[in-house]
Amino acid sequence: MPDAAPGRADLIERLVSLCKQRGFVFPSSEIYGGINAVYDYGPLGVRLRRNIRRRWWRAMVDLRDDVEGIETAVLMNPEVWVASGHVQSFSDPLVDCTGKCRKRWREDHLADERRARGRPPDAPGCPECGGALTPARQFNLMFKTFVGPVEEDAAQVWLRPETAQGMFVNFANVVNSTRRRIPFGIAQIGKGFRNEISPGNFIFRLREFELMEMEWFCKPGSDREWHEYWCAERMRWHVEDLGVRAANLRLRAHEKDELSHYSTATSDIEYRFPFGWGELEGIADRTDFDLDTHMKHSGRDLSYFDTATNERYVPYVVEPALGLDRVMITLLVDGYDEEDVRGETRVVLRLHPDVAPVQVAILPLSKKAELCEPARAIEHGLRSRFATEYDETQSIGRRYRRQDEIGTPLAVTFDFESLNDHAVTIRERDGMSQVRVGVDSLAEALGDQLTASRSRAAQRVSGANPVDQLRGGD
Ligand code: ATP
Repeated sequence: MPDAAPGRADLIERLVSLCKQRGFVFPSSEIYGGINAVYDYGPLGVRLRRNIRRRWWRAMVDLRDDVEGIETAVLMNPEVWVASGHVQSFSDPLVDCTGKCRKRWREDHLADERRARGRPPDAPGCPECGGALTPARQFNLMFKTFVGPVEEDAAQVWLRPETAQGMFVNFANVVNSTRRRIPFGIAQIGKGFRNEISPGNFIFRLREFELMEMEWFCKPGSDREWHEYWCAERMRWHVEDLGVRAANLRLRAHEKDELSHYSTATSDIEYRFPFGWGELEGIADRTDFDLDTHMKHSGRDLSYFDTATNERYVPYVVEPALGLDRVMITLLVDGYDEEDVRGETRVVLRLHPDVAPVQVAILPLSKKAELCEPARAIEHGLRSRFATEYDETQSIGRRYRRQDEIGTPLAVTFDFESLNDHAVTIRERDGMSQVRVGVDSLAEALGDQLTASRSRAAQRVSGANPVDQLRGGD
């Protein structure tokens, strides 16, 4: 993962602290010392995640007429994972340090780990202490557990490492119940679990995480074209629907020796994190590998009869797979900004208005009941249209600062003058401009300002066409 975003070395530490302080992300079971690479999401984190999920589902399911959504179980018949090749091949090469630090590493990450510690990438030995490393051995990433009261081999099951298999084993159920014709997709959002060897970088690499995946079933031979289509479409989504800066994204095709056991072509959408370029989303051509192997292992026919051409075939599959937690860290990194305002540092999270946890904050100027009561009533009135928050604590300056830090695009202040002129002040996050509007037309004015904020987000990311970028990257 070389080539980190310049000048942002300590950004992750700043985000970890902001996320805890403001209620986005907490270390899991913190009062017991936490558990490595597992996090809990606080009130604002939950709002942000719901917005991300909603935008993904809207683009991948709601606005399309060729994708169906499903939800499948985390626990599956263990034969699924034997058939899919995960029991045999879902592993990473692990090496141990035999020197001072005794750390465990993923062999294919050694060069990046050395770089991250300021060592030459091809230096021999352990990235941390330089000690000798053991030869690599394969370590399976799937978590094991047991169903029923007896912990015996026959009762062993796996926590799913991807949601995809739930969609493959339900392919015939979806075709038969919806009468879908190929090409079409099945999408789902759900938790995945991987016993990662070297997790880290905050919520970038977790052991429990959430996936947003879509399996696109198409005619054999059309898969490469669909692969290109989905690479372009998914890049567009990150830029236009979430407002991620195109300059911080690139598409990278996997080398042959990097490909997963089920894929003949994969491209990653990568983001330029403070710790280097890292995978945000993978778009894989899975061919007919999965349906074919499930046909062989289950004895069930998962082929498809194409009435347009009178042919029977096993569909090919193109899969865009995205981690929700990775989107979250991307938005936090991409949106984080510090600027000098009259000698003080202002921290601003420049989130797209459609993902911001709070869109409109309502702030009475003081704690006096004559201001708080009408301000609270205004906030109640706006709830059905916007994601709102009411806050009467602390000074107005500190409350503005808090809203800037959590990425709220608009703040409405109800002051003493409001009692006479029935008007309030709208303050906009990015430029800090203020306008006075009547309470009667407030909802409309806020709607207009959010629209303006959406176009500013679009301008910020425009200039680099994401589809052109597909060919480029640096
Ligand atoms: P790597 O090689 O980095 O371990 P991968 O290529 O195996 O990852 P995929 O199987 O392509 O990852 O996973 C699909 C998506 O799921 C990734 O693009 C990423 O957004 C997300 N993801 C994968 N593993 C994790 C994890 N441990 N924590 C958080 N998100 C993850």
